[in-house]
Amino acid sequence: MSDTTGQPALGAVRQRADVPRARRIVVKVGSSSVSGEATAQIGPLVDALAAAHGRGTEVVLVSSGAIATGFPFLGLAGKPDDLATQQAAAATGQNVLMFRYQQQLDRHALIAAQVLLTAGDLQNPTHRVNAQRAMDRLLALRVLPIVNENDTVATHEIRFGDNDRLAALVARLLGADALVLLSDVESLYTRPPEQPGAERIDEVPFGDELAGVTFGSIGAAGVGTGGAGTKVAAARLAAEAGTSVLVTATALVARALDGDHVGTWFHAAP
Ligand code: GLU
Repeated sequence: MSDTTGQPALGAVRQRADVPRARRIVVKVGSSSVSGEATAQIGPLVDALAAAHGRGTEVVLVSSGAIATGFPFLGLAGKPDDLATQQAAAATGQNVLMFRYQQQLDRHALIAAQVLLTAGDLQNPTHRVNAQRAMDRLLALRVLPIVNENDTVATHEIRFGDNDRLAALVARLLGADALVLLSDVESLYTRPPEQPGAERIDEVPFGDELAGVTFGSIGAAGVGTGGAGTKVAAARLAAEAGTSVLVTATALVARALDGDHVGTWFHAAP
């Protein structure tokens, strides 16, 4: 189906091949994909987001990496353990991270908007509606919202837990057609991929409990908090709300957004 411009009409996403014509997508990237030696991945990531934006898709990026980006600027050798230093690193790193995204977006004449949320914001009806309305407006204005947890005010008890969950809640809030969860691994496996007998999971039908599948901490390289388990939990949360979910590697983001057969696909509720 085409509209008058000859472009395929934007619509619902039920399978990978539908991703290029999604009306609205949320892409989540983990700390280890955009900080340290992986900082160079921000350029290709932004190129892929800009290509989707250019097709008319409304794109929201949920990016971790504030703490991982910030701690070297504080003279620390590794990710801090205590909350106050993590918050200080996040406040420092969030600024640098946004600057790095904007530098790359400049090449595409796009502008980013920083949206920092806490779990409490999404539970508070007033804050929730404000966040939704502001992001709807940003998307209508063709701005790229870049969302992260508001780490400065989030304590361990009231955190989302990880940004995979935050991304799923944002996808639900915005009624996204697809959620793409990016990390270091190409897809999910039936057990940690370094173990014998681990098999790649290609598709997960809606409601499949993935019985017999064991998830280790794969995908959680030193600087992030998520792993395969948090991705599955987030994927279920989004799928229940009618959002299809693709879990794959940051290096494959362009192919993922082009609708290629990569990663693990979670079917959304019918
Ligand atoms: N919000 C944290 C950061 O930007 C990361 C949360 C997570 O590990 O997903 O550093």
